Amino acid sequence: MASQTEHKHTHTQTQTHTPSTQYDYDLFVIGAGSGGVRAARMAAGHGASVAIVEDLYFGGTCVNVGCVPKKLYVYASQFSESFSGAAGFGWNVGSQPTFDWPTLVASKDKEIKRLQSVYDNMLSKSGVHIVNGRGTILDAHTIKVADKTYTAERIIVATGGWPFVPDVAGKEHIVTSNEIFNLAVLPSKMVIVGGGYIAVEFAGIMHGLGVEVRIFERGDKVLRGFDEDIRDFLMAEMIKKGIKFMPHTNVDRIEQVGTGFTVHTTAGETVATDLVMYATGRVPNTKNLGLDNVNVALDSTGAIIVNEDYQTNIPSIYALGDVTNRVNLTPVATAEGMFLVNKLYANKSGIVDYENIPTAVFSQPSIGTVGLTEAQAREKFSDIDVYKTDFKAMKNTLSGSSERTLMKMLVVRSTDKVVGMHMVGPDAGEIIQGFAVAMRAGATKAIFDSTIGIHPTAAEEFVTMRKPVG
Ligand code: FAD
Ligand code: NDP
Repeated sequence: MASQTEHKHTHTQTQTHTPSTQYDYDLFVIGAGSGGVRAARMAAGHGASVAIVEDLYFGGTCVNVGCVPKKLYVYASQFSESFSGAAGFGWNVGSQPTFDWPTLVASKDKEIKRLQSVYDNMLSKSGVHIVNGRGTILDAHTIKVADKTYTAERIIVATGGWPFVPDVAGKEHIVTSNEIFNLAVLPSKMVIVGGGYIAVEFAGIMHGLGVEVRIFERGDKVLRGFDEDIRDFLMAEMIKKGIKFMPHTNVDRIEQVGTGFTVHTTAGETVATDLVMYATGRVPNTKNLGLDNVNVALDSTGAIIVNEDYQTNIPSIYALGDVTNRVNLTPVATAEGMFLVNKLYANKSGIVDYENIPTAVFSQPSIGTVGLTEAQAREKFSDIDVYKTDFKAMKNTLSGSSERTLMKMLVVRSTDKVVGMHMVGPDAGEIIQGFAVAMRAGATKAIFDSTIGIHPTAAEEFVTMRKPVG
């Protein structure tokens, strides 16, 4: 997989920075995740003397318990539909393909180990001093790891986030995204509490692997903040596949019964299950970090408050990525790392632009989206045209799957500018990534219309939608 984890690009960096002599290091980075590794590596490339401390796993959340293992598990789970759809294409794959969970976990572990060593090598080769352990801040220029102290002219806090689990009786029985990847046994049935990215992604993964999945959603539908059509369409498709939704459902308590659990809802219902997963958001990792030793300002969620240069209220301390709880995505953390280091050590200006950040949800079917939702577009502009198409992907004509694809585009009539693109369907992230470039370049609907499609693809629909539906 070509990912943020393992780029083969080579770029020569000019060493523009003159190292300081007053401190052990120019830069000390706490946390070797997506943002921290990028910042450390690039700063060293610019000639800064850099150390990085990590207490759990190199590569951070994304590599170890996030994007990478998640996507590998999505691939694993998609085989069940491929097997069932194969007959229509003439294949006989036997009546009952079987799946072995421990094999998947072991294959995933092997790949992650490989990626961790890639990270380790990248850092060492760029001359970054690696420190293993938990870093705490003692003062504006001093970090403590176990019984050693290190001084640095600047500190970057890139400690990421951690699953948030609300206080509920029986909380000790649940798992989060941290544990789900390494379950000893695949359950027969499970309850997922929450309706965000992780809940819908894991509902698809576990369902595809043969688990009976039930989602407890406290609101009326999943993925608050996404375009309403996208939310409705995804839910309908997931329900068609057999995932059960319980909207307006809150947990009162979780009780162990034999080797399984009974989940009691606040409405008095009970659901018997083998596993309860909470996917109820993440909180910034700012506890026990020594931030109070220097009075670094936090917001009400515990996130570090930074200015537009990622600087905290303490001038020598910076923060980026999920610990600042803004746009919690890997490419955003790495972009922030790059921007900050370029500014500090290569005299380069430029900012991370938070407008039109594309994102994908690796649900099944997947979502790709960039720009405004219809509701946001209508609030901002008085003349929005909505283009929409909903169709059965060509593969499903023979596979027998009833899964459908939705594509939606929002255009400002007076300027012809495309301000939102949304898709639910296979490879939505791959498709939207390219269109996000067009949108950032300010493409008009006329430019989309004059672009020749690639046939036969689903993506060509985005350049052939002619009549607004609203
Ligand atoms: P992290 O990657 O979390 O790294 C922080 C590091 O700091 C960790 O390694 C931690 O151990 C270390 N640390 C913390 N405290 C200390 C300390 N005191 N001393 C030393 N080390 C410390 N994003 C996407 O863009 N696409 C996806 O598909 C995607 N899927 C995801 C799936 C899941 C299940 C989860 C949980 C997240 C997913 N994300 C995804 C989000 C993405 O993982 C995060 O946005 C990204 O990892 C944030 O990077 P970061 O550098 O801020 O923090
Ligand atoms: P999200 O913030 O996406 O979703 C949290 C969900 O939990 C929401 O449905 C929320 O409901 C619900 N919730 C929150 N508190 C409670 C509660 N007390 N009781 C019941 N439900 C509750 O968080 P996730 O944990 O899914 O993911 C964390 C972040 O990680 C994402 O926001 C994203 O930034 C990143 N991520 C990115 C991925 C990707 O790029 N593909 C994949 C996975 C994660 P409500 O809407 O009502 O608040």
